[in-house]
Amino acid sequence: MPAPEDIIAADIPPSESPTWLEAGRLLFAAECQLFYGAQKLEQLPPLAGTEIAFAGRSNVGKSSLLNALTGRNHLARVSQEPGRTRQLNFFDLGGRLTLVDMPGYGYARASKDIKADWQGMMFNYLRGRPTLRRVVLLLDSRIEVKQADRDVMDLLDRAAVTFMIVLTKTDGLKPAALARKQQEVEALVRTHPAAFPRLLATSSETGFGIPALRAELTALSDGPLPATVSAEAGLPMTPTDGGRNSVV
Ligand code: GDP
Repeated sequence: MPAPEDIIAADIPPSESPTWLEAGRLLFAAECQLFYGAQKLEQLPPLAGTEIAFAGRSNVGKSSLLNALTGRNHLARVSQEPGRTRQLNFFDLGGRLTLVDMPGYGYARASKDIKADWQGMMFNYLRGRPTLRRVVLLLDSRIEVKQADRDVMDLLDRAAVTFMIVLTKTDGLKPAALARKQQEVEALVRTHPAAFPRLLATSSETGFGIPALRAELTALSDGPLPATVSAEAGLPMTPTDGGRNSVV
């Protein structure tokens, strides 16, 4: 009979583990509420619990993905209210995870201010936030990786914050084209020290990959797993990512 630690250390990524998939389903069904918006570093909420930030070029499908993850419409809507698009929006998910919606970057007509935000406040947030466990960096699977995406990956390397690439809009690709895209992005990821080695393919339109992403993020969350999941799987009540989150 293996110890719970051995079970959790087994080499099964959360995205493929029935236990984490179920824990993810339950966590992302929990209440999710905007509790803070920050336009300046001095306005960040107090450090508490694990944060996961979502970043991507404007139009990459970030709002749709956040909606699909949480099974709601209101998350994205509040982030897009006037005045909120240039700030960090903090959402509490079931008291166990904070989802941080970052401003979209790389929009061709973006004002200098938005570009300056990413070099300034966003970088400082990424670099100086001990509770930030991971950045989910979205790339549109249907178009090539842009210079702005490469710039943000460099910035994440410099900030030494682990980032995981999530491909969006994969419903637009045939399986062979998606496989090629994944190989191309995997090769790119290998050149970035702060990149998490695995990437996930998603479609907010069809729901493809959404449970897998929920599972990955749930494995980083705080506090007890839902009792049913813990009991069934013999998992310890406090999840751990087994050190996978560290940047080397
Ligand atoms: P954001 O600017 O990154 O928040 O992007 P949105 O979520 O507003 O999406 C931008 C556009 O892409 C919209 O027209 C969406 O309908 C579309 N979109 C988002 N996700 C998907 C997807 O999974 N599949 C497809 N086909 N279109 C998507």
